[in-house]
Amino acid sequence: MRKVLTTIFILLPLAAMAYLRLASGADLSAPLPIFHFYIVTFTTFSAGVIAIMLTITLGESARPRHVLAAVAFAAIGSIFFSHGLATPGALIDFFHPAVSWSAWLTLLAGGLIFSIGALSGNFRPLQPGGLKGIATVMATLITLYLGIAALKPEWLDRLGAQVDPWHTIAIYGVTLAAWLISSLGYLRLWITERNRVDGVLSFVALWLAIATVSMHSFPLWNLSWWLYHFLLLIGFLVTIVFLAREYESARQFNLLRYYVGISLVFTALLALIASDLFTRAAIDSLSAEISRQTRARVQALTSQVAQTLPAGIDAENAFEHYELALDRLPAFGLIIYDNQARFVYPYKELDSGQAAEVPPDSVQGYQAAMAGQVRVEVREPGMAPERYAPPENVHAVVSFAPLHDNPRLEGPPIGVLQLVEESSELTGRALQARSTSLGITALTMTILFLALLLVVRRADNILVTRTGELNKAYQNLQRSEVLRDEMTKMIVHDLKNPLSAIAASVDLLKMTAAENENPVQEEFTDLAQDASMRLTALVEDILAVNSYEAQELVLDLENILLQPLLRERLDGFRAQASSEDKALILECPSDLHASTDPVLFGRVIDNLVGNAIKYTRIGEGRIVVSATLENGKVIFHVRDNGEGIPDEYKEKIFDKFIQVPSSQRHSFRKGSGLGLTFCRMVMDLHGGEISVRDSEGGGSDFEFWIPLKAQQK
Ligand code: ADP
Repeated sequence: MRKVLTTIFILLPLAAMAYLRLASGADLSAPLPIFHFYIVTFTTFSAGVIAIMLTITLGESARPRHVLAAVAFAAIGSIFFSHGLATPGALIDFFHPAVSWSAWLTLLAGGLIFSIGALSGNFRPLQPGGLKGIATVMATLITLYLGIAALKPEWLDRLGAQVDPWHTIAIYGVTLAAWLISSLGYLRLWITERNRVDGVLSFVALWLAIATVSMHSFPLWNLSWWLYHFLLLIGFLVTIVFLAREYESARQFNLLRYYVGISLVFTALLALIASDLFTRAAIDSLSAEISRQTRARVQALTSQVAQTLPAGIDAENAFEHYELALDRLPAFGLIIYDNQARFVYPYKELDSGQAAEVPPDSVQGYQAAMAGQVRVEVREPGMAPERYAPPENVHAVVSFAPLHDNPRLEGPPIGVLQLVEESSELTGRALQARSTSLGITALTMTILFLALLLVVRRADNILVTRTGELNKAYQNLQRSEVLRDEMTKMIVHDLKNPLSAIAASVDLLKMTAAENENPVQEEFTDLAQDASMRLTALVEDILAVNSYEAQELVLDLENILLQPLLRERLDGFRAQASSEDKALILECPSDLHASTDPVLFGRVIDNLVGNAIKYTRIGEGRIVVSATLENGKVIFHVRDNGEGIPDEYKEKIFDKFIQVPSSQRHSFRKGSGLGLTFCRMVMDLHGGEISVRDSEGGGSDFEFWIPLKAQQK
């Protein structure tokens, strides 16, 4: 599925380009200079800002070649921004050489940086220092180019004229090669290292190779030419998203950087929207004024000519009269339609019927004039009537006026006069309005930006200091925790020897008390023996848990008969059970074997049976220990009819130091809360599991299993 999707995404732009090349009718021309200006300036500005911010945040934590991809898009964004700014008819009314130079250089610079990244693994591996060097050289070259484009654009023209067309061919070849090499290089890296960013970069490089072809080989404004804008933008977005996701954890949160990035992008957006609104308002009021003046003038003109019409003239001769009178006017585009909306002038083929097929340029204009009114339409640059095209970057004023065949302008019109005039005044004012408003908004936003920057910087400083303090405190805490753990281990370990001495002495004392037949002494030595046994078990649990956590606990596996092992463990509890009047029952087939560590496993049984005795009532307790073989697993149960374990504790009790708190439970701590943790660890080492559920008729049922042939995990 993934492969299919990848193939589709690679092939999509390629297929689009091939289709547009083959089906020439589909490759429509979309000359949208203002759209080009807004879209290109905004997207490239944002792309540049985001890519620069990403380059800074990725810093040295990311693979150098991935940082280079961000640098490449920073370069693409910065150079291509001048391409948008130089759009003819947006801020300037001539064709600026930066339009084509920026377009070529964008893909060339981007391709070269990308290919350095793709090949960096082959030669000398790229070091962070080298990365800085490349970024600095690029930034210097771009600044130099932007300076020339802004201040001395004629240098670009001169340079172009000297070497034309070789520089375009050379740039085309090198750019295409750079993107193809990048694509292959990243593909190779992806195959060997399987890092998804490399895969994505290989993919994006291929798109940009297609974009290079679409820019260099297709005619301006055609859909095939527009393709490279979209591929650049989508390539940028895809790269940024993947880079940001890949290095999410490595990036440092820095309020200031985010603020700068986001506010610059928003400033650009607001400045463009404001300038568009301002320009529209300026053009609208000027258009209304121009329309009023033009209407009056055209009305005066047609009625002036009508005054000179000889009486009783027929329609065809009247048209000729108008044509002769008006054609002499300078700079006018003149079209005359008859009352059937057919051309009379400038085409003389009225009778052939050929001209009739061409409809009037504006149906509304024609109809208004046929209804006796003069209508004026103001057209954006490039939108002048097809049959009269003034220079592309000038506004056109198109008027429709009724024509009559008598000087008194009586009766229905015999036809319509369409006049097209250029209005460079309107164009000039639009350019001025757009740049003034851009300037004003940019200035306002810059002041606001700087004011907020101070606030954010302060907040950022506080954040950085606090985070630093917190980190330090955390490190100290960790250090003291390690120290405390080591101390505890040492103390617990050192307790072992004196404890065994105490236990041995108590045993001796007990024997003497029995020999002396001293019941009071015997009772006290019993208590002391019980306490020392509990303490020894606790110390052993703590030591075992510690060594498990330090991964030092190893199993000493033996294949042993289970029944004798279990019976021996249970026998250890018989005296206590009978004194508390509790039943201890063992159910285990006599031939059941398992490979287990008898010492550790024995202590698991001790812990569980000890707990079962602890939590059953005197005189009522019934504890059943059983073992069965099922599907290669030896399954054990330790069931009791005691107080049971609440549901919310059934999982937690296996964690360290967790005990069930309950008002009904004994207020003193009966143990350490480590016994079950130890059991789970031993099961885990055997590759088995342990869990607890309620016993039928109340109490707990601890179920645990080990594989028949356990192996140290
Ligand atoms: P402890 O040393 O406190 O017994 P364990 O880890 O062995 O530590 O047990 C944890 C807690 O689980 C006990 O404190 C007790 O609240 C509960 N528990 C363990 N076994 C039983 C049982 N058979 N019946 C009721 N509660 C039990």
